[in-house]
Amino acid sequence: MAYRSVYDLGAVRSEFEKTGISSRFIAHVWKYAIQNPNIEIDFDGVPSLPSAAYPLLRSKFRSSTSTLDSISESDDNVTSKLLIRLQDGAFVEAVVMRYDTRLGRYAGKPRPGGPRSTLCISSQVGCKMGCKFCATGSMGFKRNLSSGEIVEQLVHASRISHIRNVVFMGMGEPLNNYAALIEAVQIMTGFPFQLSPKRITISTVGIIHALNKLQDDLPNVNLAVSLHAPVQDIRCQIMPAARAFPLEKLMDTLVSYQRNSKQKIFIEYIMLDGVNDEEQQAHQLGKLLQTLEVVVNLIPFNPIGITNQFRTSNKQNVQMFQSILRSFYGIRTTIRKQMGQDISGACGQLVVNIPPKGSVSSADLITDIEDLRI
Ligand code: SAH
Ligand code: SF4
Repeated sequence: MAYRSVYDLGAVRSEFEKTGISSRFIAHVWKYAIQNPNIEIDFDGVPSLPSAAYPLLRSKFRSSTSTLDSISESDDNVTSKLLIRLQDGAFVEAVVMRYDTRLGRYAGKPRPGGPRSTLCISSQVGCKMGCKFCATGSMGFKRNLSSGEIVEQLVHASRISHIRNVVFMGMGEPLNNYAALIEAVQIMTGFPFQLSPKRITISTVGIIHALNKLQDDLPNVNLAVSLHAPVQDIRCQIMPAARAFPLEKLMDTLVSYQRNSKQKIFIEYIMLDGVNDEEQQAHQLGKLLQTLEVVVNLIPFNPIGITNQFRTSNKQNVQMFQSILRSFYGIRTTIRKQMGQDISGACGQLVVNIPPKGSVSSADLITDIEDLRI
């Protein structure tokens, strides 16, 4: 029998309601579950629940429906890739980036209480958006994660590092799993996790109808949009989903999103040699973004093995792109750093081909996103 995760809030709440138990007890169960990794089945130790809650929890829920199958550490110990096995045998990956980007008087010194980390998490097994440069896209769509399965990635990661930021840049398109995304973020920002919404970033290809709702459902979270091209035809070539979500409409959506949120929007732009990295395209991008308040992250393409269709742009082109955006259009533009190339699991290029234990490949570190939180 399949059990629900105790972090599947809607499911726990409705079971509690049926039995006349107040939902205010749920967060207490979570607090206990986080502190006691071994309870799994037996909720008996959770203090002060109404007596009917114990058999109910035991019969229908587990404090963890997923298990941490393996951890791959990068050589520099900055990046850890968590391979997580879900209840039905599917795997997802989450990446912990322990990179202390503090400036000022603590720069370079160990942080009291250990480093604060950024966790990159998955929202789906596979993805149906089919972006041509993305390993996850090549898997096709397998299934959505439940809110509990999303939150469990944070629970697993919190056991190895103090997580300060969460970015939805792992496997899957978070806005295609909307209800679970909203519930998971609401759990993460409430007791006992208490992450600041300002430290949560949702990265999307731009699912227009979902973006129109996101603001009301999750005010104050950060939005990152995977734009990757300044014009519709290039976008369609590399991102088939762009046909359903035309660039012009997407830009209108972002303008009204920003009008309401008053927050800057992060724009992700993967640098592909000869595809979207020419001078003219930098100007097109600058003009396109001029009316918005954005930070552009230029992302070197990580080769993904399944295709040799793309190469990353050379350094000069990336720098040229950055300086055009900065100097002609005044757009804050960062170049994504790549680190921990020795372990598999760059955010956004995750594909789970279960590796033989101990075998590892590449990861990149999104310190640019982390930098912006400081
Ligand atoms: N589906 C969402 C979130 C996951 S992908 C999205 O597309 O935004 C997270 C980021 O990684 C996206 O910006 C994505 O375009 C990028 N990415 C995907 N494949 C990549 C690759 N091979 N190299 C570098 N970045 C990649
Ligand atoms: Fe899906 Fe994002 Fe990969 Fe595109 S880049 S296939 S949306 S995970």
